[in-house]
Amino acid sequence: MLNNIKNAAIDASFRTYSRPSFDIKALVNKYIRLMFDIHTPEHDYYRYLISSQQIFFLIAAIHATTAVAATLMGIQPLFYFSLLGLTLFSLSMLLNKRTYDIHAVWLAYIGINIFSLVGVISLGWSSGFYFYLLIIGPLLFLHPNGSLRLKSFMTALSVIHLLILSQLFNDGASFYQVSPALLAVANFANVMALYVILAYFTFIYSWAAKQSEKRLKELSSQWENLASKDMLTGLYNRRAMSEYLNEEVSRVNRGDKTFTLAMIDIDKFKSINDNYGHQAGDEVIRSISRLMSGHFRHHDMIARWGGEEFMIVFPETALKSAASIADGLRKKIAATKIVADGHDIIATVTIGLSSYKREYGLDACINDADQALYFGKEAGRNQVIVGQ
Ligand code: GH3
Ligand code: MG
Ligand code: MG
Repeated sequence: MLNNIKNAAIDASFRTYSRPSFDIKALVNKYIRLMFDIHTPEHDYYRYLISSQQIFFLIAAIHATTAVAATLMGIQPLFYFSLLGLTLFSLSMLLNKRTYDIHAVWLAYIGINIFSLVGVISLGWSSGFYFYLLIIGPLLFLHPNGSLRLKSFMTALSVIHLLILSQLFNDGASFYQVSPALLAVANFANVMALYVILAYFTFIYSWAAKQSEKRLKELSSQWENLASKDMLTGLYNRRAMSEYLNEEVSRVNRGDKTFTLAMIDIDKFKSINDNYGHQAGDEVIRSISRLMSGHFRHHDMIARWGGEEFMIVFPETALKSAASIADGLRKKIAATKIVADGHDIIATVTIGLSSYKREYGLDACINDADQALYFGKEAGRNQVIVGQ
């Protein structure tokens, strides 16, 4: 026991007196988490936030690299200048993260103008610091919000800025006198940085556009699915069946084999509702829908036509064989005990069939099937009746 306490005390003292270390990896991780942890998918332009964040990061990273290069070369003013850039673009990222994205854009706008100006004044026109002014257009116009007039005006200001710089510094004037070799390196680095930033802009936006397109396709297929399906049973609804029937009719009219249509109605359904309740009635409709889906061939089209009425289309199928498939379903339903809301229910269906004939048209075909169904009800229900 005493030993344990002693060990614990030693552990604690180790922890207390261990030398604090400067963990650059942890620091970078912290920075990345701070900057990139954007959890606002409900935001209107979530993808813009993420992509602009990456672009600000890229510019901040360029400044960090420049700061390191300046230290290695011993150019102190450049070091402070880059440190300022790193801070400014990190601030843009923080604003962006808090969804003050338009403020982040304007801060970046000011930053780019100042850094191009200071860069050209310090090292001259041939250093290529003015290249960064070319980012202004894409930066402002890719943001989905904000006044277009203001963006145009501010972009024009940057172009004027560029023109003035080119006029004032085209004779090679600069505050610092550095070797032509160093100027060539700065120029090359700036061109490359600009190239990478613009390529990244293009990549990010084409990626975002593809993502949006994909999402749009998903949504439209979800919507189409919702609009064509019946909520209670998951079968196609009357609207989808009507569209399908029109397609079938034009197919047959073009010379293909005709289709047969069946109307199915649950017998004495009102009394099922009255005896067991509406909930149980719904369950009976669902169970019969499931039995139907399992019974027919996958190319037969099944839909809920009305309350407890269903329609089935057998493509390229003669009346006789459709009638025998339908009778198989009738027998199956009559033999199935449906458990609904705690009750065992046996339900039966009556089915009327008719084949489509070009000379009489679709309405006549549906009427014939309805008539056949009516005859089946009159004749005592739980049967299949074939129309003309
Ligand atoms: P039969 O067809 O054998 O002549 O008799 P029936 O009692 O089935 O006749 P009818 O077509 O007049 O009644 C259908 C009933 O189905 C009326 C309606 O209240 C009920 N119904 C329609 N849609 C639904 C539904 O989605 N859920 C439930 N529980 N009942 C429904
Ligand atoms: Mg009915
Ligand atoms: Mg009925």
